[in-house]
Amino acid sequence: MPHTISRRDFLAGTAAALAAGPTLFAAEKQPEKSPRYLDIHVHLTHRWFGSERGPVTADVLLRWMDAHDVERAAVLPLVSPEAFWYPVTSEFVITEAARHPDRLIPFCAIDPRTLGTHLPETKQVVDMLNRYIDAGARGFGEHKALLDIDDPLNMKLYEACSAAKLPVLFHLDNRANMDKPGLPGLAKVLKTFPELVMIGHGKGWWASIAGGLAQPDLHVGYPAGPVAPGGAIDALMDRYPNLYGDLSSSGAHALLRDREFGSAFLRRRADRLLFGTDFYDLTQESFPQFDLFRTFNVEPKTREKIAHSNAARLLRLG
Ligand SMILES: [Zn+2]
Repeated sequence: MPHTISRRDFLAGTAAALAAGPTLFAAEKQPEKSPRYLDIHVHLTHRWFGSERGPVTADVLLRWMDAHDVERAAVLPLVSPEAFWYPVTSEFVITEAARHPDRLIPFCAIDPRTLGTHLPETKQVVDMLNRYIDAGARGFGEHKALLDIDDPLNMKLYEACSAAKLPVLFHLDNRANMDKPGLPGLAKVLKTFPELVMIGHGKGWWASIAGGLAQPDLHVGYPAGPVAPGGAIDALMDRYPNLYGDLSSSGAHALLRDREFGSAFLRRRADRLLFGTDFYDLTQESFPQFDLFRTFNVEPKTREKIAHSNAARLLRLG
């Protein structure tokens, strides 16, 4: 769709701008009863990556949420150099979210390499996480560093997150939390920390909905075509109840690439899937996540779990 709102109009928030047509902010509202969305994956940004793409300030984010029936959203810092164009710190996210406690749920993040330098003891990491929790953090992530997913530094970090009872939202591909086809590294994490909630996100994670992958397949943005049987996601979800999936970004595409498989997967994993978009950029125009329930004609109870209540339970929200 054409981007019909100029950025200045949008930022001015004029009624004319909002009425201008199908855009990022002129909602993709469901015609039938809308679910109350809890978006597990959004970002706040600064102005550093240019005037077209940002900034996504708290006010911009709230207007975008209003336009899409998103009641609450988890706001994820991006602290590792591999994660974003510049660091979006836990402190910034927690401070901004604190102004809108009924709408914005802050996460916190620590780069695992800090555990090799300034935080060598697990207790130090747990103490730091508890300070973030005391300041409002409800989850850990977006965890996205250039290390194997089961790197010793990552394992120490997960141990601390498990002790602090913080769910970890991780990005997995060939440049962050790297793993092999079949995700044996992730399996090791899930087995070692059975109390730790791990929420999967990213190209490599969602490519693993299908079986028969080779290493480069873990870094394809939106794989197309039928889902080959034997995918790691189903196998790991069968074995590990602490594993969840974030439908943001490549998540919706993974379900829509093979509608028969996607429809059955959505129902089969209704207790393990979390609605999310990964909104972080004003030039993002299309969010297929908002079409999923309609496309798959999902029954209301399943819809409510995925749209809202699974995440509310994991983040211990009222
Ligand atoms: Zn993200």
